[in-house]
Amino acid sequence: MFENLTEKLESSFKILKGSHKITEINIAESLKDVRRALLDADVNFKIAKDFTDRVKEKALGQDVLKAVNPGQMMVKLVHDELAELMGGSAEGINLSGKPSVILIAGLQGSGKTTFSGKLANHLKRKKGKFPLLAAGDVYRPAAIDQLKILGEQINVPVYTIEGSKDPVNIATSAVEEAEQKGQDLVIIDTAGRLAVDEQMMNEIAAIKKAVNPDEILFVVDSMTGQDAVNTAKAFNDVLNFDGVVLTKLDGDTRGGAALSIRSVVNKPIKFVGMGEKMDALDVFHPERMADRILG
Ligand code: GDP
Repeated sequence: MFENLTEKLESSFKILKGSHKITEINIAESLKDVRRALLDADVNFKIAKDFTDRVKEKALGQDVLKAVNPGQMMVKLVHDELAELMGGSAEGINLSGKPSVILIAGLQGSGKTTFSGKLANHLKRKKGKFPLLAAGDVYRPAAIDQLKILGEQINVPVYTIEGSKDPVNIATSAVEEAEQKGQDLVIIDTAGRLAVDEQMMNEIAAIKKAVNPDEILFVVDSMTGQDAVNTAKAFNDVLNFDGVVLTKLDGDTRGGAALSIRSVVNKPIKFVGMGEKMDALDVFHPERMADRILG
């Protein structure tokens, strides 16, 4: 994950680690390399520039030049700023409703159905929940079958209405079913499109209005870089979602989505998908991610 970024950041600190006498010019050069590394990782230009400006300000404010080990101090400043960029401390999800209702949104292929299964599995195991999965992706019949297969794997029931093309009805009926059967959590998988379109947005807004979810999670493929950020903005404008799920972080993603999304939508990344299997889900920790990025 993020190998390229890690490598480039490492080499951008070489100037500081190598020279005995560090100057303000060395720091500026090193930060220019940091900025280049961020741009290569597909971080938006303004975010990358603001990032290095903030690090520079802190470096000068904390008198890095007089520090015993200026190189190490710069690495620490970049580390803290990376963690801050991705969200400060980790945040949980709201499960207060009875039943709690979680709505899953995102483009087609982003990993919504897979994540719905993973989240049900996670909350069942870690929080002792009794989830019901609602199959709201009515346009892709394979999505309903896919969710049923995942449900069987993790031993979680899947709610569908055979032949229905009405996702609002499926969502509200699933919540009623959970109430009747004493299930305390409903996870609603929804339909996505290949790109943002009005019909998809109207539909998911209607589901939100009908079920009033405790938590709305936006799922995005981390391989899509800055596109991921634009999609997040479009969904957030309509849904005002609570958190982001970054999928496919096990692939050779460059890091742009992980590093940019929070600055743009001001919502925390809550989970990351690390594979296709039902247990390949991690709770997101910005500090740990910053550790990994810096190698
Ligand atoms: P949806 O259309 O948004 O419901 O997307 P799917 O859940 O069907 O996922 C699309 C493809 O991505 C499937 O082949 C999944 O197995 C795969 N996928 C989903 N999440 C991950 C992940 O975290 N890592 C990897 N490597 N593949 C994933």
